[in-house]
Amino acid sequence: IKNIAVLTSGGDAPGMNACIRAVVRTGIYNGINMFGVLQGYQGLINNNIIPMDARSVSNIIHLGGTVLKTARCLEFKTDEGMDQAYANMKAHNIDALVVIGGDGTFTGARRFSERHPVSVIGIPGTIDNDLYGSDFTLGYDTAINTVIEAIDKIRDTADSHDRLFFVEVMGRDSGCIALRSAIACGAEAVLLPEKATSLEELIRTLEIGAATKKSSSIVIVSEGHKQGGAYDIAKHVKERFNHYDTKVTILGHLQRGGSPSSFDRILGSRLGYAAVNELLKGSSRQMVGLRGNDIQLTSLDEALTAHSFKLESDLLEMTKVLSI
Ligand code: ATP
Repeated sequence: IKNIAVLTSGGDAPGMNACIRAVVRTGIYNGINMFGVLQGYQGLINNNIIPMDARSVSNIIHLGGTVLKTARCLEFKTDEGMDQAYANMKAHNIDALVVIGGDGTFTGARRFSERHPVSVIGIPGTIDNDLYGSDFTLGYDTAINTVIEAIDKIRDTADSHDRLFFVEVMGRDSGCIALRSAIACGAEAVLLPEKATSLEELIRTLEIGAATKKSSSIVIVSEGHKQGGAYDIAKHVKERFNHYDTKVTILGHLQRGGSPSSFDRILGSRLGYAAVNELLKGSSRQMVGLRGNDIQLTSLDEALTAHSFKLESDLLEMTKVLSI
């Protein structure tokens, strides 16, 4: 392998820049010519491919988002799109690709490397932490910290006015952000996509809080919760529970931005470093991920088909115990 390209695809996540920096510098350290692809797979198709040197990634480790930009690209799902992308890579003599993104990005990478002789390594980058093969995905820790900062502020006003706040956080299929945030913010209850919580149960918890003189309550609702988002839940609860004034906050896209936490900077650096070293060892169609405190490989086949329940059982149990 002489020439490696790196791209970011799907949703952006804090820590992607630290990861790009590590990929580029590890490659250059090993005498590889490095390239950046702008706007994900769209950039491969449009030949938006730029050479990168060690200085191209200076002063980006602390930045949120991705300096390579990201995009969703339908054309890459077609054979013609993939063939055009390969032709552009060949013109630059690029023989390997590091893709940073989520499961859509990995699906594209796997198909691409089956169709064309290109080595690929995937790096799990998504705030939702919804990928198999890595205990933590890039951006997840920063997103939790952002949620915590916001909820601490909401708690100030909730407490001053004796209010009940429903705060909706990101996670369409994954309650990871919601659960960790709930523990870290001392939320009174949390509603997760993976777990059915009846309204009766929620109201009972809130009733106990009111009876034991809680001056405010915060309920965290994961956007993927089956009984609806924070507005729906708040509406139903309000009809039957009126101890507090009820408010709703949707945190939305602010959870995706911001300077990465130390954890995400280090994780991005480790994963980027490992991805290039694996390519140099001859690995392909693998994902690098964090398991325990080790960087380990999972085949893209396994990463895309296996599923794991990622909510920590002790945290789930603690949501009930510590909120009394
Ligand atoms: P996120 O978790 O943020 O949604 P993601 O990587 O899952 O990240 P997607 O939009 O699902 O985001 O996928 C990113 C890109 O990967 C798509 O825009 C498309 O270019 C490519 N891709 C997705 N699925 C396929 C597929 N079946 N074949 C080829 N390419 C694909």
